[in-house]
Amino acid sequence: MRDKPEAPEQINSLMQPEDESVNTLRLERIACPLCDCTKATIVQTSGDNLCGIPGEFSVERCDACGHLFMNPRPVMECLAACYPDNYGPHQSIPKTTSLSGVESPLSEQGQAKDQTRPPILRILPLRFVPGLRKFYYWLIDDRSQPVPPTPTTLTNSRGIDARESQTHNNCLAVEIGCATGQYLVRLLAAGWKATGIEPGVGPATIAKNAGLDVQCGLLETCTLTPESFDLAAAWMVIEHVPDPRDTLKRIHSLLKPGGRFLFSIPNAGCWEVAFFGRKWFVLELPRHLHHFTPLSIQKLLEESGFTNIEITHQRNLSNVVGSVALIILSRWPHSRIGLWLFRYPHHPTSVMKLLLAPFAHFLALMKQGGRLTITAVRPEK
Ligand SMILES: [Zn+2]
Repeated sequence: MRDKPEAPEQINSLMQPEDESVNTLRLERIACPLCDCTKATIVQTSGDNLCGIPGEFSVERCDACGHLFMNPRPVMECLAACYPDNYGPHQSIPKTTSLSGVESPLSEQGQAKDQTRPPILRILPLRFVPGLRKFYYWLIDDRSQPVPPTPTTLTNSRGIDARESQTHNNCLAVEIGCATGQYLVRLLAAGWKATGIEPGVGPATIAKNAGLDVQCGLLETCTLTPESFDLAAAWMVIEHVPDPRDTLKRIHSLLKPGGRFLFSIPNAGCWEVAFFGRKWFVLELPRHLHHFTPLSIQKLLEESGFTNIEITHQRNLSNVVGSVALIILSRWPHSRIGLWLFRYPHHPTSVMKLLLAPFAHFLALMKQGGRLTITAVRPEK
């Protein structure tokens, strides 16, 4: 984390990869990745708002199925060059202290699990308000990366002998695109045996150095046993992969029958898209190759063999804050407020989350959340 904000030019220069292939980013026109239709219409163009990779890129809508995707897009050999070393999501350091549960205060149901009291509730009069801590955690639960209870926990809670359930070893989880491993740490703290895969060498190394079980590579190249996992997770990953249908089928094949896939994506079906246009924070060209709506991702999951699909709108205004930052910085490149807001999506603060929470809850209630958390199940045989 940097101590003080930089001007955008400085941010861009910091984020500019040294790899010279970025300067010769080769693009290729493709057919619709979901239906192979070759006819599509441009709906948005934008440069790289986050990392400053040179070029102007386009999002097109498939004339046949309506899918939104980047076209033309980087050729396979250039994809890695689109992720400079200091790409925002790769900057965090996993906090091994969270193995004690401090960093995972919320269960899947949004209930407070840890016993720590947030600083704002340490003020003397607030300490004694009944239920306030539970309300606080409910209010700031953005539903972005829930940690499900292990099957063993569920079994035990139903009164079945713990020794019997543990012999099934049914607590295996894999995270695809685990970055530096922050979510893996939370899985471990919740009792999962967790492994991760991460294509970025830098973040994978940070995760390994933190003692986490992480393979550096792609889903296609890593060694994972089919039908061995009870849980697969992928946070803000599916929009990055060249062939999402193939990725979903691979994840499906890794899960045991009855296993769950838990993931998140930006919501291209919400108000933010039209409102912010080319400054929409998660347009993120040339890294976001797909822009899903609740309908399009549901259809794709069903076609990939998943069932029991549940789509939850996150109570998360990171996209809005980031988009406002991009608008401010495009007019006033050295604005300190703009620079602070630019950093917020990857370094959110509790106070800001608390202030924004009522709006975030309202938008989620209206099914207009900017990010979606989705669960899907591999059916039993
Ligand atoms: Zn299509």
